[in-house]
Amino acid sequence: MAAWVAEAISDGHHLICEAGTGIGKSFGYLVPAITSGKRVVIATSTKTLQDQIAGDLPRILDVTRAAGYDPGIAILKGRASYVCPAKAADRDSQLTLGRNVEAANDPIDAVISWWQEGGDGQRDHAPMELTSSEWATISTSGMECPAARCSYSKNCPAMEALEDASEADIVICNHHLYGADIASEGSVLGHHDAVVFDEAHRLEDALCSSVGITLTPRRITIYISQVDALLKRLDVDISRRKSLVSDLWAHAKEFAAWMERSVGTVTVPLAGAEHATVRKLSDAIKAVNGAIVSATQQPGARFDQTVIGRKERTLNLAGHLLGDLTVLSQGDAYNEEHVCWIESGPVLRTSPISIAGSLGARAAAVATICTSATLTVNGSFTALAKTLGYSTEVTDMSDPNEDGDPLRYMALRIGSPFDYASQAALYLPQLPDPNDDGWGDAVADLASDLVVHAGGRALILCTSNAAVARIADKITKHQRSSLGDGHQILVQGAMARLKLLETFRDDPSSVLIATMGFWEGVDITGDSCQIVILDRIPFPRPDDPLWQARRKATQDEGFPPFATIDLPRAANLTAQGAGRLIRTDTDRGLIVLCDSRLRTRSYGKTILATLPEMPVFTESADAASYLDSL
Ligand code: SF4
Repeated sequence: MAAWVAEAISDGHHLICEAGTGIGKSFGYLVPAITSGKRVVIATSTKTLQDQIAGDLPRILDVTRAAGYDPGIAILKGRASYVCPAKAADRDSQLTLGRNVEAANDPIDAVISWWQEGGDGQRDHAPMELTSSEWATISTSGMECPAARCSYSKNCPAMEALEDASEADIVICNHHLYGADIASEGSVLGHHDAVVFDEAHRLEDALCSSVGITLTPRRITIYISQVDALLKRLDVDISRRKSLVSDLWAHAKEFAAWMERSVGTVTVPLAGAEHATVRKLSDAIKAVNGAIVSATQQPGARFDQTVIGRKERTLNLAGHLLGDLTVLSQGDAYNEEHVCWIESGPVLRTSPISIAGSLGARAAAVATICTSATLTVNGSFTALAKTLGYSTEVTDMSDPNEDGDPLRYMALRIGSPFDYASQAALYLPQLPDPNDDGWGDAVADLASDLVVHAGGRALILCTSNAAVARIADKITKHQRSSLGDGHQILVQGAMARLKLLETFRDDPSSVLIATMGFWEGVDITGDSCQIVILDRIPFPRPDDPLWQARRKATQDEGFPPFATIDLPRAANLTAQGAGRLIRTDTDRGLIVLCDSRLRTRSYGKTILATLPEMPVFTESADAASYLDSL
């Protein structure tokens, strides 16, 4: 893998590399990146994985330094991952004014002190764990932060991280930041020769969400609360302040009510009454902006630095809000290649239907390397390549760009070093079709039988919250009658994700039942996870507006949507879910796929082909005796 990555970086080629679990993929791209002498960005899917890569670096650098390679390396996370000094000072000034004095000894102050005494200001490295709402009081989103215009930017960990990244040879960021870089035409990461996308199977979703709009009533409420507090501190006349804020509330409520009524696909630009609703909210925001600017420009007006910081942040928040509302009302930067919809909540989202164009444009100038444990469908990279905007696959490194096409790609597939044939087995139980009425109860019965038989040790991955509740209920009742109450049934949402995973790992008699967020990124080794049960094939929802738009676009291009996009996505996620079982060469266990369509429909073969080869059972007695042998 390292040789192929080195070739891609040095010659500016593109590479898609499927590297099975346990292969050491991060070493496979870090070593050639470090020794390349080029500026390379490494983008992975989560902050946790960024930290894991950072943890691998010292061992690699020990070796490469001895060979004369010692590039500058920076880790860059999103703005909200760092303590914001402007907000910390603002909070401090409020405490000094006598407000919230009782909070003076709280963990938020401890985190601020840690940063002031030399900590790096990253949430993930803080000595105290803060809740999201606590952390929000001392951090700032990219939408709120005025960056270099901020009067606190000289002593700001987020800005320091950006500066370090701009000077580094190797930058380790995440997919969302890379999406922000594409959307801002390179202003986040600057020029780079190559990018490595780790966990590349998640790239499409991350890039779509990072370049789209997400608008909720709560986002507007937070902005209005900030406006109210700022106008007070700017000494704006009370009747003027009340009038401005009540106008904002009135139009925000009207906007929220429209969102509530309009769940589903939305046509942009809006017309008629909807257009008027958005315009009135925009006008109210502009009126507030005018009042803020005018209050700070009054002759003799003097405000302390924290008030000026708050003004800068509020204006920035307003700017982003106005920008998003303008997209809705005027369709700026929005065309037939985008989709807009409202989910219950309500949450309004826009997204490009495809990232092929924007990523393909980037790939025309930058070598791109995509890697993950699961990228192929039926042994082919074609579906992913189409998603990412590549053109033709080439099978060797001789001359990938020989016909002048900058979007040709090299393909490399390296199997897992684990011996699945002896470490794992696949159980395809005989159950009703998932569309039949009795399927849900049959799956819950089966899962319950297996969990009780094995004494816990199971990770159950579901495609819906209803399935989680049904299976948890069944296991609870069954377990009480068979084993007593000694086994923990851990259900997603009952505690924080990290705590849930720690509890599951530390108690082999427990069972963890969760939905889609746990199909990937769960890495539990040993006895605690010897059964992985997937309730059904995770096809994208037929009524998901983004997927509906993708299906239509695929059809318009002359390709069958199901085979071209739905099936590859489902196959990839099935492989990801099943991949939770074997994480080391000593892990052993059983994968249970409760969707009978894997045996009865022709596409079942395609999905099963994404899994490593291992013994297959269809009878419960065989599955039970396999579990007994573990
Ligand atoms: S630049 Fe200012 S607002 Fe932005 S994170 Fe830094 S201190 Fe906070």
